[in-house]
Amino acid sequence: MITLQGKGVSAGIAMGPLVFFERSTFVVEKKLINDTKGEIERFHAARRTAGDQLDELSQTMAEKIGKENALLFEIHRMMLEDTDYYEPIVKAIETLSVCAEYAVQETGRQLAKDFAEMEDVYMRERAADVDDVSKRVIAILAGTQQTGTEGKEPVVLASNDFSPSETAQFNREKVLALVCQQGAANSHTAIFARTMGIPAIIGLGASLAPGLANKPVALDGETGTLYIDPTPEVREALKQKQEQLVKDRQSLEQFRGKPTLTKSGQKIKLFANIGSVTDVDAVLANDAEGIGLFRSEFLYLGREDYPGEDIQYESYRKVVERLGGKQVIIRTLDIGADKQVDYFELPKEENPALGMRAIRICLTRPQLFKTQLRAIYRASAHGNAAIMFPMISDLEELRRSKAIAKQVREELSAEGIAFNPDTPIGIMIETPASAVISDLLAKEADFFSIGTNDLTQYTLAVDRQNESIREFCDVHHEAILRLIRTTVENAHKAGIWCGVCGMLGADPDLTQTFADMKMDELSVEPSYILKLRRRIAEL
Ligand code: PEP
Ligand code: MG
Repeated sequence: MITLQGKGVSAGIAMGPLVFFERSTFVVEKKLINDTKGEIERFHAARRTAGDQLDELSQTMAEKIGKENALLFEIHRMMLEDTDYYEPIVKAIETLSVCAEYAVQETGRQLAKDFAEMEDVYMRERAADVDDVSKRVIAILAGTQQTGTEGKEPVVLASNDFSPSETAQFNREKVLALVCQQGAANSHTAIFARTMGIPAIIGLGASLAPGLANKPVALDGETGTLYIDPTPEVREALKQKQEQLVKDRQSLEQFRGKPTLTKSGQKIKLFANIGSVTDVDAVLANDAEGIGLFRSEFLYLGREDYPGEDIQYESYRKVVERLGGKQVIIRTLDIGADKQVDYFELPKEENPALGMRAIRICLTRPQLFKTQLRAIYRASAHGNAAIMFPMISDLEELRRSKAIAKQVREELSAEGIAFNPDTPIGIMIETPASAVISDLLAKEADFFSIGTNDLTQYTLAVDRQNESIREFCDVHHEAILRLIRTTVENAHKAGIWCGVCGMLGADPDLTQTFADMKMDELSVEPSYILKLRRRIAEL
């Protein structure tokens, strides 16, 4: 047996033969033509056919994977009709006298490259869509099918990556699972796989080689493990897990659309944590009641330079709008410690977790802070946004942060820019200091959200990044529970609400404890929502 480890992006167990996805690959040749007018007409005809295909696909997929997800095909259709897409192709045929296939390929590639270089993460991810649309048109022009080969028997389908169109069109009966060498957890491909309930693993790398074709495999889409030639023991263990998963999923469905209540009727708000705009799909799919933690620093990671106000505003606005009135708590920048970004040029530190991070950076670089706050306030005009400061450990830090927020509100008012002046301002309780003085902080904050990941690290003095000291990290340590209890009691005395947004919020062994403490909100990864709602209903 060979074991390959990737990243599980769609949970589920699958077993079957491994088959490599064969695309109807054909080489687009650069053919010179005389009748450019006729060639342009041929291109437009292919564009119309592609449009018809997409309309049909959009309808059938709406039934299969839901209207929201099928929207992608409407976007593809809009791209086809966009002059920015087709005019450069027509121009290439006209001026270079090349065949339509070649013009679509070259112009499409350039456009996809332009998208890939855009600042906005969402726009960057659209490069795959431009590519998808061009491939569809080329396949029509060349008279080939784009759907590739699916075996007669159900298979585990492998590829370097799958396009969203490919994934959405797979027959659930024939495709047991998807495994890729590359891929991104938040790509539409991963989202579709999750929505269609197809287990999927990405990032298996080059070890997922064509030499493995037709071998029997088994996989766990949750842990991201792919077993080639699995032993009978592995098969049996996975079979049992699968039976359990099916039972579990069925029983969870009854909690969709229901309020989150304990047996005695105590209400606990069940919110979700996200790191990007695309995570909203999972928030909605899992029926979260709001977003309790938007880790905004993910907008700053993986970039060459600071994201400007407009880029941030677009992201926050999209999230707030898509939540349609449900609350979205945007945590201001928490860079530093484990999240390092070169362009911040932070000094090298002996103990980065105790160093220049989160609110400390924002208070040291107020202009950076103001840019983000302006973007959040502008987004507040479009829905139900709230601001949350991370790593606050004394009153003065909260006051200074709030003073900068006030300046931002004054500037926006003076500029006549719309925003919600009553946007709540809360803080994260992540240090023992803040928990101990939570009575004082509660008088000046609109809400508390307890970041148990950092609260645990700082209370127990265990580096959350250091696996080798895991045994010294008792997440249920009485010291942590006492700090949480103090915090929630002080919040309630001051008349504000308190939640938990660290990993402990999803710990089923603590749900009863949190309910007893009268915790108002739990914010967890989207996939935990229904499980936690069930857990709460059992209390
Ligand atoms: C926490 O510390 O618990 C938290 C939610 O913040 P992060 O994990 O992003 O540090
Ligand atoms: Mg934290």
